[in-house]
Amino acid sequence: MHTAHNVDLAPHTTFGVRALCDTLVTVRSTQELAEALESYPEARILGGGSNILCTSDVHGPVIHLRLMGVTKTDTLVTAQAGESWHGLVTWCVERGLGGLENLALIPGTVGAAPMQNIGAYGVEQDACCAGVTVMDRRTRELIRLLPTDCAFGYRTSRFKQEWRNRYVITEVQYRLSNAPDYHVHTEYRDVAEELAARHCSQPSLRDVYEAVVAIRQRKLPDPASIGNAGSFFKNPVVLASQAAALRDVHPQMPTYPQSDGTVKIAAAWLIDQCGWKGYREHDAGVHDRQALVLVNHGTAVGAEILDLANRIQQSVVERFGIPLETEVNVW
Ligand code: FAD
Ligand code: NAP
Repeated sequence: MHTAHNVDLAPHTTFGVRALCDTLVTVRSTQELAEALESYPEARILGGGSNILCTSDVHGPVIHLRLMGVTKTDTLVTAQAGESWHGLVTWCVERGLGGLENLALIPGTVGAAPMQNIGAYGVEQDACCAGVTVMDRRTRELIRLLPTDCAFGYRTSRFKQEWRNRYVITEVQYRLSNAPDYHVHTEYRDVAEELAARHCSQPSLRDVYEAVVAIRQRKLPDPASIGNAGSFFKNPVVLASQAAALRDVHPQMPTYPQSDGTVKIAAAWLIDQCGWKGYREHDAGVHDRQALVLVNHGTAVGAEILDLANRIQQSVVERFGIPLETEVNVW
């Protein structure tokens, strides 16, 4: 266990905003995690920092999870929480194991994936999650949870709700497929178009993986070049009647009917319609190609980005009557 004091978290988060942390404890085993939690049961947990906005200095301890290792038994893959998510996806694709390929190039760690049930291009991690091992912050006991315990939903889970301060995720298991008739997910428009452009009529899981990597590299802002934490807000899901009423007024509004009868609305479109796309104030801004992504052009502080987010939410409510829920974890 390594403890450091007065550490700037800017290099540890993809927003790259300056925030001094009193105490940063790096743990590399579950035993070290248990020792750290014994001293600091309320500590915040830091993975890859790709879904966090620090709005001021961070008072109180932060535990940086660096538990590493990936193993497999047949098609069951077990990955430790500190492993890179994209590294895990690549590892699985290289072994012909299908299930996670649409989730390639999502930044961050394996341990954070169940938190908001990460998803992209029509697939969410719960589609193949087989179990989540957690450490209880109070008892330091390791508990194996089933996916059904975790209440995975659209960019949410129990870990993000009532279990937020109860458990630390230490490892995640995925049941993947090496079956010859494994069905790849290519329904999402960008994926279908990319595969068509590559003349790939019967895509393998590696083809889908490579298509997703190419789309993301082309379309999404790379935190190495410009600070961001991906989508700042969740896409709102509304009643079908509300969506229909809005479409009467805004026929071009993109809507996606859900299996439970509700309708998902593209938040990026709502924000764009309010004139925010490409907006910049000092170094805090809205990405010029993806209005759902707030960016740090260099020296923005977290409070400026949060203030911008608040103003965006207000304007979307005023124009469309839809409250946008923040997806990023605000510290
Ligand atoms: P962190 O940012 O370190 O932490 C996020 C939250 O989880 C914090 O509250 C933290 O305390 C908690 N946490 C982290 N690890 C643990 C643990 N082991 N146990 C308990 N709590 C923990 N997300 C998507 O869903 N789909 C996408 O396509 C996507 N694309 C993105 C693209 C870009 C360019 C960026 C910057 C982000 C994107 N994201 C996406 C968001 C982000 O990558 C994911 O939410 C990711 O899972 C965060 O992982 P992390 O390790 O960086 O978590
Ligand atoms: P996009 O393809 O431009 O689509 C815009 C929005 O419309 C997406 O948010 C998506 O919702 C929705 N959508 C598009 N096609 C859909 C379909 N066939 N069925 C259901 N919903 C559909 O999105 P993008 O910005 O380039 O991102 C591509 C993918 O990466 C998306 O899945 C997105 O969620 C994911 N991503 C997530 C983050 C993050 O931080 N959470 C950041 C970057 C990218 P969904 O978001 O529900 O898919």
